[in-house]
Amino acid sequence: MLKIGGHVSTSGGILNAIGEANKIGANTIQIFGASPVQWKAPLPDKKIADEFSALSKKFEINPVFLHAPYLINLASRKGNMAVISKELLKKHLEIANSIGAYGVIFHIGSRGQRPQKEAEELIVKELKEIFSVVKNGKLIVENSAGAGNLVGSSIEEVGSIVKKVGEKRLGFCLDTAHAFESGILADFSKKGVSDFAKKIHDFIGKEKLWVIHLNDSKTPAGSNKDRHENIGQGKIGEDNFHNFLAEKFFCSKPLILEVPGYDDNGPDKKNVEIVKKMCQN
Ligand SMILES: [Zn+2]
Repeated sequence: MLKIGGHVSTSGGILNAIGEANKIGANTIQIFGASPVQWKAPLPDKKIADEFSALSKKFEINPVFLHAPYLINLASRKGNMAVISKELLKKHLEIANSIGAYGVIFHIGSRGQRPQKEAEELIVKELKEIFSVVKNGKLIVENSAGAGNLVGSSIEEVGSIVKKVGEKRLGFCLDTAHAFESGILADFSKKGVSDFAKKIHDFIGKEKLWVIHLNDSKTPAGSNKDRHENIGQGKIGEDNFHNFLAEKFFCSKPLILEVPGYDDNGPDKKNVEIVKKMCQN
């Protein structure tokens, strides 16, 4: 069964996300568990959390993903940035657990001038610690667009971290726009797409791709500039998405849109319908 949805608003409270999901015809969603630009992440009220779980079951919205705040940087050298990032990830993991979400998708952050090997060791150590403290819930690393020494812009790099952490609760989220912008997915021919799938199998693991952020890009391949566009309307384009979704390894995963939408209100029914159609053909 095709799993398609998008990042939906929780404005007015997380329960509103369910209505938003229904409005766009989503059977999987992503939400912010707390403010994406704050270091505070209070657990939702138990009553609200239970109601959210019940409503997502009732409307068959499953899986639900949390997106961690953009502030997180596990590789930073600045002050105690890496430590507070780790603490914030723990809190979001607890929020995910409380509302019955599948897991927390996060960006590793920028390593700045820190050498790659040193940054990787630190990231691995921090992730291991999070898993040793919070005993439930999954973390999902997202690939980055590659600008400013962002960690995780290549499949090899994500794979190396995932393998070194060696934790079954750590998986991978492929963002198609970031992959295109970082230049690691530019060939959308049938062979190009299946080679890319194979690369994920080889370096990260076949069973580790848990979700896809399906986004077109406003900027060209290799630009390192992260600007999402509606599916088929950007530099990746309709034909390339057709080819991408023709690959079973990809179209069988939950597809989460993070697109501007045709009314600039974020992922909408029109984008969802476009993807559904592409997956039928
Ligand atoms: Zn994304």
